[in-house]
Formats: sequence, structure tokens, C-alpha cells
Amino acid sequence: MFLHDLSKFISHKKTKKTNGTILSLPQISYIRKYNEGNVYDEYMFEVLFQLGVQKKYLKYCLPRYADFASKLFVFGEGKEPIKYNNLVEELLPKVLDEKILEDKIKKINHQYFSRLPDYLLDKKIIPENRKLNSSDILVSHQAYCFTCPGCGYEFENVAQNWVLAKMKFDDQPRLFCAQCKGVPSGN
Ligand SMILES: [Zn+2]
Repeated sequence: MFLHDLSKFISHKKTKKTNGTILSLPQISYIRKYNEGNVYDEYMFEVLFQLGVQKKYLKYCLPRYADFASKLFVFGEGKEPIKYNNLVEELLPKVLDEKILEDKIKKINHQYFSRLPDYLLDKKIIPENRKLNSSDILVSHQAYCFTCPGCGYEFENVAQNWVLAKMKFDDQPRLFCAQCKGVPSGN
């Protein structure tokens, strides 16, 4: 793939303002507790949350589209590949039954997003009648995940994902992801 080709790619990211409500950190924490019961739920949530892809592109975030060497979901001519991070990479080998995964993705609204609020309500972590959808996760991604200026992959704002690295030409250390540490691969 050449850089000049990138302009004709169709982006899987939303550039328009997305309607959704940013989840609080306690809510995210409880959602992860809920997900512990099912690795396919965990995978769908983390792909939406960690990578910020639109729900309609979730069906391309399958093991069969994963290029493990470059950590990309590559799924078709003219479509911008989706970069995935180390957390999604760790989950990929656990969701190899793509039939189950595709079925879960198809039913994400009727199953995952309709059951999750009951659990969170039971934990007294969301108000009654609060519905959840993929837009809430997308705006939460935008709030809590950042793009590494070194490698362009996205990571959540937890300490283990980030390091301060000092370059020879710079007085100040700068923030980079713990994977690339500010050193571009291949250099
Ligand atoms: Zn990086």
C-alpha cells in the first residue's frame, strides 16, 4: 500500500458530530465486568471502544480480515484498513468462531445493547430509562482514547499504554504509546 493511495480510501471513522453520551469511567468499568461473562461481547465492546469504528464496520473486524504483522483489518479494495491495538490483538485469538461473532454483531442492538442497561441499572450506575447504543461508545472512545503521534495507533488513556520518551533533538520528553515509544518501525 502506498501513501498516495490513502486519499481515495473510504473512511470507517465518523467525521461528523456523533450523537451519543460519553460513558463515565465507573460505567465503563462495570460494562467490562458485564463483558467478563462472554469474550465475544468483550471483543465487540473493545473494538468499538478502543478503535472508535462505526458499528457498520464491526463486521469487518473479524479474525479473517486481520493482518497480524501490521495489526490491520484489511477488508476490501478502496476501504481504509482499520488499525487495531494490542488489546484487540490479545482478544483476537479468543474469538475464532466467526459464526458466533458474526451472529453477535448482527444482533448487537437486540441483545448486547438491550441487556446491558439492565445490568448497569442493577448496579445503580445508570439512571432508569437510559438506553445505550454504539454512538455512546464512539463518543466515549473519542473522550478516553488517543492516537499515538509516533505510530498512529489508538490507545486508551491508561498508564500502561503510554511512556514518556526523550528524543535527541528535544528538550522535553514527549508522550508516545508503549508499543512504539516514539520510534517509527523500520527505522
Ligand atoms: Zn505509538
